[in-house]
Amino acid sequence: MDTLGERYTAIMARIADAARESGRLPGAVRLVAVSKGHAADAVARLAAYGQQAFGENRAQEGTAKIAAAPSGLEWHFLGPVQRNKARLIIENFQWLHALEDLDAASALSRHAAAAGTSLRVLIEVNVTGDPRKHGLAPAALPAFLEAYCARPRPGLVLSGLMTIAAHHGPEAAVRQTFARLRELAGKGRQDFGLAGFDELSMGMSDDYPWAIAEGATIVRIGRALFGARDAG
Ligand SMILES: *Cc1c(COP(=O)(O)O)cnc(C)c1O
Repeated sequence: MDTLGERYTAIMARIADAARESGRLPGAVRLVAVSKGHAADAVARLAAYGQQAFGENRAQEGTAKIAAAPSGLEWHFLGPVQRNKARLIIENFQWLHALEDLDAASALSRHAAAAGTSLRVLIEVNVTGDPRKHGLAPAALPAFLEAYCARPRPGLVLSGLMTIAAHHGPEAAVRQTFARLRELAGKGRQDFGLAGFDELSMGMSDDYPWAIAEGATIVRIGRALFGARDAG
């Protein structure tokens, strides 16, 4: 087994342990392997170990890689949506983690209808209020959900929330960020009767065990799997 296989095995074991410690089955947490900055060859090697879900944050880089990677994998778009990329996203990805505006939702919905496909969508929330981060302010989430529910977008399946915690933050603060996302999702589900709004995409290379402890259903891991990436 090569380094990639060893890292993959170790991470899967750690995910399973963290899930069990939080009273859940290992299969309740989905790993998205973030392949940005790495070639399609790395995707193929990890897929050979059994990994199914991969994540990219740029439409063009991702699309080129998807074309070169083995078929049948599940692709997650992690980056913010530029409206002129909506068609590329619909045609290549099954999940979107970073919805933050209704215009983008409308554009994605139009392309999904035209292509006869659907996209599972998570809303990104900027829980920490970091101005360098994308996502809705927590206080803006209810109005967003209200507007969305008044006019659901065909082809989009609103499935939950995503956040990014402070980089290298202390455990207590990072866990608080994740706990807050969980509360926001629960409140959204309750207040707007959103069935299936239960995915929590949170946790990256440095903090995924904490995210799982706070209820993550999806962790997005790049460096800890594939190693350091080139710029970007
Ligand atoms: C790059 C990226 C990741 C993976 O980050 P690592 O620190 O490499 O694990 C996760 N989520 C998003 C949105 C990203 O852009």
